[in-house]
Amino acid sequence: MRFYFPDSHDQIDPSFDFLSEKRSMHRVKQRDDKYAHEIFRPPPYSGLLVSKPIVDGLPGVSGKYTIAQRNRLYREGVRRFFRLDQTDANLDIMGDCGAFAYVRETEPAYSVDEVIDFYEGCGFDSGVSVDHVIFGFDAELDNSTSQVPIEWQERQRLTLTLAESFLDRRDKRQCSFEPLGVAQAWSPRSYATAVQHLQEIGFKRIAMGGMVPLKTPEIQATLRTTKEFLKKDTQLHLLGVTRTAYAHEFAQYGVTSFDSTSPFMQAFKDDRDNYYTLDRSYVAVRVPQVDGNTRLRRLISAGKVDQQRARRLEKACLQKIRGLADGNTETTETLDAILQYSKLLGDKKDRTIQYSETLDARPWEECACVLCKNIGIDIILFRGSERNRRRGFHNLTVFAQRLERDLVISRLSNGKNI
Ligand SMILES: [Zn+2]
Repeated sequence: MRFYFPDSHDQIDPSFDFLSEKRSMHRVKQRDDKYAHEIFRPPPYSGLLVSKPIVDGLPGVSGKYTIAQRNRLYREGVRRFFRLDQTDANLDIMGDCGAFAYVRETEPAYSVDEVIDFYEGCGFDSGVSVDHVIFGFDAELDNSTSQVPIEWQERQRLTLTLAESFLDRRDKRQCSFEPLGVAQAWSPRSYATAVQHLQEIGFKRIAMGGMVPLKTPEIQATLRTTKEFLKKDTQLHLLGVTRTAYAHEFAQYGVTSFDSTSPFMQAFKDDRDNYYTLDRSYVAVRVPQVDGNTRLRRLISAGKVDQQRARRLEKACLQKIRGLADGNTETTETLDAILQYSKLLGDKKDRTIQYSETLDARPWEECACVLCKNIGIDIILFRGSERNRRRGFHNLTVFAQRLERDLVISRLSNGKNI
């Protein structure tokens, strides 16, 4: 089972000093900042997924790449750009057209040739056909096909037509990337029909689109139905679906890969599951920077928070946290400092119980990853991008371990049943 990590330019600066909160003055972002696959051996993912809207933007909307970065990607190609030529990481780089970015439009934002230009121009290993997401799932529609909204049927038809033309143009242009056709549908049966159609066109690898909002039983039902029509050598990719506990079951339905940003994003977007361990997740301790936090800056300039007082409490928090890491400060004392600071910031949520769980368990001491080893307790501080991204990278390694473990456990327990 291959896991692809969607690229969004996520890197860390190895020169960042966590005590002084400063970067090396010699740091050149483009040269010195590191991707997760440059930090960990083996890399925590089998491949990267790069979306066209992130690189090229959409009509009227710029992408996440600067013009210089975009030009460099096209000029150097994905291997050099992601510095795969400098590591022994053998990653597969997949391109897609980020259909969620234009889901509200009546038609996809790009033509087939524009997307192929992107894949060929950047030297991708594999590329997903142009698709249009169907926003809705209703298994009941398999019993009353006349009720299927016209727009959904239209989007499926369009996605299949585009897949056919994608394969045709790829062959005519003699491209070397591996093509994936996309199945967009609204029910188990309609997904199976789309997959059947894509196999007939000639796809050996098919991406199951629009499954992000689906519940696990809906995904299971869809894959079970699709499996009945799947050729022996057809491989499925689940776009944006993260359910490691079901990885083994998915594999039995022909799924060989999936992609997800969750392990990384949860480090700083989730309310609770910020720091992964093999068996659970912990809340990260929020100690925002007085100078770097937008909300805090606004409160200070509105006169609601005294800047000097904020700085004092922030400093006290960090001192207690460091003391706790060294074994010189008690958890209650540390929590008290954190609570005082968070009250000043107007944080309404009381996370005392979760924080004491994190601080008492000291999970950063158990982790063998190089980032936890290097920065210790700072990895569980919800504070600025250097800590938050490192925690995201740590989560990626734990996620890879969870995936491997869950696959082994399922295999073993299945063996026992036989
Ligand atoms: Zn770690």
